Amino acid sequence: MEDAAWITDPAAVAVLDALEAAGGPGCVRFVGGCVRNAVMGRPIADIDLATRLEPEAVVSALKAAGLKAVPTGLDHGTVTAVSGGRGFEITTLRRDVETDGRRAVVAFTSDWAEDAARRDFTLNALYADREGWVFDPTGQGLAAARAGRIVFVGEADRRIAEDCLRILRFFRFLAAYGQGEPDAEALAACEARADSLASLPAERVLKELLSLLAAPNPREAVRLMARTGVLSRVLPAAGDLSRLNGLCEVEALMGEGPDALLRLGSLFPETPAEVAREAERLRLSGAQRDRLIAAAGREPRLTPWMSSAALRRALHLLGAGVAQDRLRLAWARAPHGASAGDWRGLVAEARAWKPRTLGLSGADVVAAGAPPGPRVGEALRQLEAWWMEADFPEGREALRARLAAILRGLEDGN
Ligand code: ATP
Ligand code: MG
Repeated sequence: MEDAAWITDPAAVAVLDALEAAGGPGCVRFVGGCVRNAVMGRPIADIDLATRLEPEAVVSALKAAGLKAVPTGLDHGTVTAVSGGRGFEITTLRRDVETDGRRAVVAFTSDWAEDAARRDFTLNALYADREGWVFDPTGQGLAAARAGRIVFVGEADRRIAEDCLRILRFFRFLAAYGQGEPDAEALAACEARADSLASLPAERVLKELLSLLAAPNPREAVRLMARTGVLSRVLPAAGDLSRLNGLCEVEALMGEGPDALLRLGSLFPETPAEVAREAERLRLSGAQRDRLIAAAGREPRLTPWMSSAALRRALHLLGAGVAQDRLRLAWARAPHGASAGDWRGLVAEARAWKPRTLGLSGADVVAAGAPPGPRVGEALRQLEAWWMEADFPEGREALRARLAAILRGLEDGN
């Protein structure tokens, strides 16, 4: 393997040393995403390990080496080691004895090939030892990784019948690593078994969708999800894909990384009430839901021809985050349209926006002679409205003069 710094990373080495001290040399290998990404020359996120040691032995081996062991999923053979402040998922080699569409009853084994056979895709069934030698028990994984082919280990239809989450994982890996024509057998099986997705808890669906949408370019994968009927099973309200496609364009035009949550929002229907319903159905967190509902709001109106001053008022009223989301979603309707240059200018201005604060407070209003009470709030509201209209002047003298005039007006109004 070319770039194998992750293999010699001291935190990983400490885990390998701990397990080999108990199980002997070669009892543990790197597996899954880290090996796949190393082969593909992609950055490595987290490190998963596979071992012949059974879970209890893993726990005691880690403890003996002074590492923390978290029993993440003992039934399925998974223990998380904490080393150098990071988590390493260690799973005992296993085969699935019985499956029910999502959960499996497992039996531990010491056979790497058996372990590979229960993994989802050939490019995810790659192992590497601590010297960086890659093992490919299915015989197909290395070639698949190099070519960006997402192919089920074994028969696609049977593997999905065992665990329907694999449908979403298929499209997630397709979005992140797929190149060339997608595997026809896999697509057909996803389509045939799309109904089974109804049994997945919303939390799992949301997690997979957000991971999928975090790929730099998920457009083709989402198009295939729509074509196979998978998208409508997990997002029944998803409209056409043009806003998602447009948003991906906008991100690219602005040189920004993927914004998975906003991309999800671009697949939702457009009114805040509908967004709230979708957020509830998919069990978004409060913060995620609030962001997407705010992004769907319409007032104050953002248009490509709005003036800079009007944009600044909108930024002040909405907050920069909400305004940015709305600008991007609006621009996403026609990323290369006649207004593209205007939208780009507005987004750039919004990015540079520094929040403004009114230089006077309630105490200043009282000091200026207003009786404490509702009039203070009213005077502040009027003052802020004037200040926004005047494009946020900073001098306190001008604000004081205006405040005096406002207070006179309120008095006269009595
Ligand atoms: P990522 O970079 O997203 O972490 P990954 O391939 O490491 O990708 P994980 O979800 O961390 O994905 O899973 C680790 C490995 O466990 C996978 O590579 C795969 O071999 C196996 N695996 C995970 N989930 C399943 C599943 N539902 N069915 C079969 N194998 C699975
Ligand atoms: Mg992983």
